[in-house]
Amino acid sequence: MASPSREDYLEAIWILTRDRGAARVSDIAARLHLSVASASKMVRRLDKDGLLKYERYRGLTLTPLGEGCGRSLAARHDVLERFLQQLGLRDAVHIHDIVEGIEHFMDAEALAAIEALLDLVQRDPAWWERFVAHQRRAANSSPGHSRVQTDP
Ligand SMILES: [Zn+2]
Repeated sequence: MASPSREDYLEAIWILTRDRGAARVSDIAARLHLSVASASKMVRRLDKDGLLKYERYRGLTLTPLGEGCGRSLAARHDVLERFLQQLGLRDAVHIHDIVEGIEHFMDAEALAAIEALLDLVQRDPAWWERFVAHQRRAANSSPGHSRVQTDP
């Protein structure tokens, strides 16, 4: 796995400050599966760039700029999780890991398209049911999947 980008940091810090008021470097490190040393290095960089305020013993908070970035990153993550759930994936940890991998490649256009799709599915679920049925048939007929159990 590639080393977590600034986006991962901002997303994690936004979630931590939303849930706890402030984020500690150790919490960020734990969330991103990193050492405290590398987390604090990135935190100092984000501080320098005006995205957060870093106070060694109190923890850190986001500036309005960092807050705006963090919120839209978390929203992007959320849209992609809902998309994978809509596709029928159920394991929350697995879904989270996939989204962590693909979210950085999503631009506004791709994200807007996915949001439009989710919106249409919600307004008009009937055609999506056909997709779900089709997906089940495809899964059942692919070799090495559930064919052994389902075929007579
Ligand atoms: Zn994410």
